[in-house]
Amino acid sequence: MKHELPELPYDLSALDPFVSEEQMDYHYNKHHAAYFTKLNGLIDGKPESEKSLKELVITSEGGIFNNAAQAWNHTFFWHCMTPSGNGGPKGDLKAAIERDFGSIEGFKNQLSTTAATLFGSGWAWLAADKSGKLELMPLSNADTPLKHGKEPIMTLDVWEHAYYIDYRNRRPDFIEKFWDMIHWDFVEKSYKDAQCN
Ligand code: MN
Repeated sequence: MKHELPELPYDLSALDPFVSEEQMDYHYNKHHAAYFTKLNGLIDGKPESEKSLKELVITSEGGIFNNAAQAWNHTFFWHCMTPSGNGGPKGDLKAAIERDFGSIEGFKNQLSTTAATLFGSGWAWLAADKSGKLELMPLSNADTPLKHGKEPIMTLDVWEHAYYIDYRNRRPDFIEKFWDMIHWDFVEKSYKDAQCN
């Protein structure tokens, strides 16, 4: 099976001024697309070509893992954002954030610190265990909570390629603006789904 780059859930320019059309074009059409191209090359004619993208992320290592996980992570990341943002966490998710991080403001601060201090390339993940307990996981390179028996709830890409055209070295500014783009309905759905798996 060939894995195909899924469509973005919004236009390339839709997240401007958080990220410009040029930044999004490179990130989606060059970086994200390249992970699919490399992955398809690596699995062509091999037993791995029978597996779904998520199965590849969970079961493979090395180059296949790196490209499958980056393909999966970016699709998940695009869905964690929405052009207008949509308020803040509600319901069970809000209650869980307050329980596990003290308050919404406390969570925002911890997310910012986690994303800003992650050394090198990687992802700042919000993840849940089977009981619904939330945690922030700063993971390097392509690594994902799926590899650690946890469910991804939200993520922020802090590879330099995610922000360098617009922000140069100002990663903290990129992180600060991300907060207003979070698609809380999607994050809440991820949290709900995590407890059904
Ligand atoms: Mn990226």
